[in-house]
Amino acid sequence: MKRSRSARDEILAQLQQFAADQPAPFDFHVHTVWTDGQNSSLEMYQEAVRVGLEVMLFSEHARKSSDWFGQFAEEIRALPKLGCAALIGVEVKALDFEGNIDCSEEILEECQLVMGSVHREKAARTGVAFEVNAHYHPDPWFLIGACRKAGATISLGSNAHALGDVGRILRVLRGQEPPWNPSGP
Ligand SMILES: [Zn+2]
Repeated sequence: MKRSRSARDEILAQLQQFAADQPAPFDFHVHTVWTDGQNSSLEMYQEAVRVGLEVMLFSEHARKSSDWFGQFAEEIRALPKLGCAALIGVEVKALDFEGNIDCSEEILEECQLVMGSVHREKAARTGVAFEVNAHYHPDPWFLIGACRKAGATISLGSNAHALGDVGRILRVLRGQEPPWNPSGP
């Protein structure tokens, strides 16, 4: 199954709808041993099911030269269906301010969502999601407010590199875990 525009639009629409006091049980920023994560895709997926996620995006780092992406995508498609949708994604580097990214067409074809670092006003213009990330943003609720004002779609991501990180953005938004603290360890 290749990327379909309607599936992507539906995901973006769901993200758009999530209510301020009820963050949707999504985590859209997860890494595995395919890149710099510590756990396999199956382990991360099982953890997602355990903490009650409904959608998880495997957002591996990739570049134009990443020849392993097809195998990775195959592995994600072969995960057991345990009540959480496992999506194939990529975290890409922006090459310029015009929106060009260091990613091949073959990789983009496999992906349901592409994550790049974008300016949130630009996100509002182009209809891509702006990520609220538990790792880098000391005050995620402030960022959500700013995104809403700019009309940007919000994506929730933990930048998870190990089991304990899966779904962390939701625990932060619910006040169950502190956000990343720039002055902390
Ligand atoms: Zn990442």
